[in-house]
Amino acid sequence: MSEVIVVGGGPTGLWLAAELRLAGVSVDVLEARPQRSPRSKAITLHARTLEVLAMRGLADQFVNSGAHLPSYHFGMLEQKMPLADLDSPFPFVLAHSQVQTEEKIERWARDLGASILRGHTVTGLEQDEDGVTVTATTPEGIQETRRASFVVGCDGSRSVVRQAAGIDFVGADPSIYGFLADVVLDDPPPPGYAVHSALGSLSVVPLGPGRVRMYGIDPARQDLGQLTFEELRQYVILLTGGDFGMRDATWLSRFTSATRVAAEYRRGRILLAGDAAHIHFPAGGVGLNIGIQDAMNLGWKLAAEVQGRAEPGLLDTYHRERHPVGEEVARHTLAQGVFIQGMTPEGLALRGLMNRLIANHPSLVSALVEELTGIDVAYPVPGSHPLTGTRLPAAQATLARLASGRPLLLTEADLPESSAEAEKLGFTVARATLSTRPAWAEVAGVLVRPDGHVWLAVDRSPDADQQLRNALAEVPATFVPPDAYRA
Ligand SMILES: Cc1cc2nc3c(=O)[nH]c(=O)nc-3n(C[C@H](O)[C@H](O)[C@H](O)COP(=O)(O)OP(=O)(O)OC[C@H]3O[C@@H](n4cnc5c(N)ncnc54)[C@H](O)[C@@H]3O)c2cc1C
Repeated sequence: MSEVIVVGGGPTGLWLAAELRLAGVSVDVLEARPQRSPRSKAITLHARTLEVLAMRGLADQFVNSGAHLPSYHFGMLEQKMPLADLDSPFPFVLAHSQVQTEEKIERWARDLGASILRGHTVTGLEQDEDGVTVTATTPEGIQETRRASFVVGCDGSRSVVRQAAGIDFVGADPSIYGFLADVVLDDPPPPGYAVHSALGSLSVVPLGPGRVRMYGIDPARQDLGQLTFEELRQYVILLTGGDFGMRDATWLSRFTSATRVAAEYRRGRILLAGDAAHIHFPAGGVGLNIGIQDAMNLGWKLAAEVQGRAEPGLLDTYHRERHPVGEEVARHTLAQGVFIQGMTPEGLALRGLMNRLIANHPSLVSALVEELTGIDVAYPVPGSHPLTGTRLPAAQATLARLASGRPLLLTEADLPESSAEAEKLGFTVARATLSTRPAWAEVAGVLVRPDGHVWLAVDRSPDADQQLRNALAEVPATFVPPDAYRA
């Protein structure tokens, strides 16, 4: 019996497995595919995900192996939004294929001791008071059962776990059908090429040496029927007057704007994360990103629960904190759909208006970019310090202080007594300049959760250190994995 079974070894499940191992929890990942898919749905990593990677000391290996995009689109509008002013160590979008992302996270999870069982297809599960029994088909075709204290469904949009748990997937059926094609272009258009007219839309983005992804909306083909190479070629000619010398398609597919969010992210001993919990149109390239961020939020809480050190209700905060994020992303992508399918005279006029607003209103760009990149996500606690639940905005080196998965005490000055107390409890302790941002101007010290969100902030005052010590005396066990206690 393992402590946790993760169903699905996509990016979300793999990240969760690594997080659980970091806290010393035994975890089996059951993954249906014998091998990883060679097709990358996702090709972007946003700033908050890069910060999450930095918090585990992994950012450099990603950032050094992808292209840095200095701007990004909203609703496939021609007027791109610059990212240089983003308040993050990563003011860009990283073009990084899902295949590479999964490879790197899987290596990290295996190095931490996760057992990843490929070719194991989960067919059902049942929970009782003490645990969950999972039924799976092995690579040899044998039906087996396994038991765990908790099961997390990271098994994608058609999640068997979600269905077996009877959790509703609430939302809208598709209203937009897009296409994608991974091809070689002998005569490629300039970088950043995109067209949008009454005839349809097409964007071309680089995928790596010699290969591009073409994607868009063909208003004449709003269905999920097979896309053929010749159909694509004729569409591209209709739209652009030429075919860019396209050849060698390795993937031709269609995708939809179906948008749904699980009604519950937790039912008893069963939890959901990633696409199992939320799906939406891939506008903005955020699905994989928020899956990893779900797993980051859940990992330390589930570890605390499994290890019997969670304060009552801690695990329920996973739904409370992440469900609104899933709903917000659903709304954000639905809103982009209006621009994406805007091919009528009214739609084209609306696009023109929004293009002008983006070009001329930097505060609008800031707001859109903060939502898109996930750096605006916060889990406020009414009645607490205004920074409670906000993300720690910090340099990469400071984020890396969270690499052990332990919570962090950050102080501006030497506060020897609280520092010593925190170290005794297994916190990582570091000094950092906190007051560089207006909202942080008065902050003397901050306790940071293992997922990089503020648990508690203390403003400058004569008894700031005493306040930090009081806080440390209250609920530290929730945050600190047992290894840290032993250390
Ligand atoms: C065309 C397209 C483009 C996209 N582009 C982007 C992008 O640029 N950026 C971005 O962030 N996101 C993008 N996305 C979304 C992104 O790909 C998904 O959000 C992401 O893959 C979700 O990861 P996941 O681990 O939650 O689920 P998945 O990647 O779906 O992984 C689920 C895993 O569970 C396994 N599984 C399923 N059922 C079972 C079972 N019964 N038993 C065992 N294992 C099972 C599957 O084999 C799979 O490996 C795009 C999506 C599409 C369709």
